[in-house]
Amino acid sequence: MNSSTPLIQTSTYALHLIDVGNRLCNYIYLLHCRETGVTAAIDPTVAEPVLRALEVRGWTLNLILTTHHHDDHVGGNTELKAATGCTIIGSAPDAARIPAIDVGVAGGERVSVGNLTAHVMEVSGHTNGHIAYHFKDAFLLFCGDVLFSLGCGRIFEGTPEQMYGSLSRIASLPEETHLCPAHEYTLSNGQFALLYEPSNIVLQARVSEVEALRFARKPTVPVLLAGEKATNPFLRCDRAEIKTSLGMLGATDIAIFAALRKLKDAF
Ligand code: ZN
Ligand code: FE
Repeated sequence: MNSSTPLIQTSTYALHLIDVGNRLCNYIYLLHCRETGVTAAIDPTVAEPVLRALEVRGWTLNLILTTHHHDDHVGGNTELKAATGCTIIGSAPDAARIPAIDVGVAGGERVSVGNLTAHVMEVSGHTNGHIAYHFKDAFLLFCGDVLFSLGCGRIFEGTPEQMYGSLSRIASLPEETHLCPAHEYTLSNGQFALLYEPSNIVLQARVSEVEALRFARKPTVPVLLAGEKATNPFLRCDRAEIKTSLGMLGATDIAIFAALRKLKDAF
């Protein structure tokens, strides 16, 4: 994808996506406040493509917003800070594991990108201390590895209960929110989702759309929360078809979530 093309542009901000083209299919987002010129990079796995995208746009990097400490989300931190002098923001409870961090923030706190304001959400489960940045007025959520389109992150450090709680809090945000996950896993997630909810026609249509987008080498994200709630099995653990497919009709939603996540780990 051409990094000079904005994904979303409004009167107040421009959002760009950088397709790193690495093995893990990482995406780096650039969020630019149009009123102040302040620019943030979210989860820069590497520095070089970020520096190139900034140069193309004539932007200066002021901030890095880190969702969690994994290498594929912080790999560019030190080099970008050395090159631009940017300030690195990340999870306070996870600060010891985030390279070059300057400012630790916890759930409930606020982060400013120029005139744009994010509420920090604590969304543990993938890792302890994983945070998401919710720009309420811009209808954007940078959710790292908690929620993917048609899927969710692996549970490395937390419990299924924690992860399900984090996903439920995300699901309760306004439905017009654009979810900006850190990986392009949608196609494989969709193939998994169809196994457990084959009659979902919204899901069928989404998978067809995703196939076409990926064939054209286009990203499948950002995606609206409303669409995810209609298609993502990890947000639909209360659905009879999913429970029946698992042979767990009487089970609790959280037991369904744990069973689905376990199956996805082996998918
Ligand atoms: Zn991760
Ligand atoms: Fe990751």
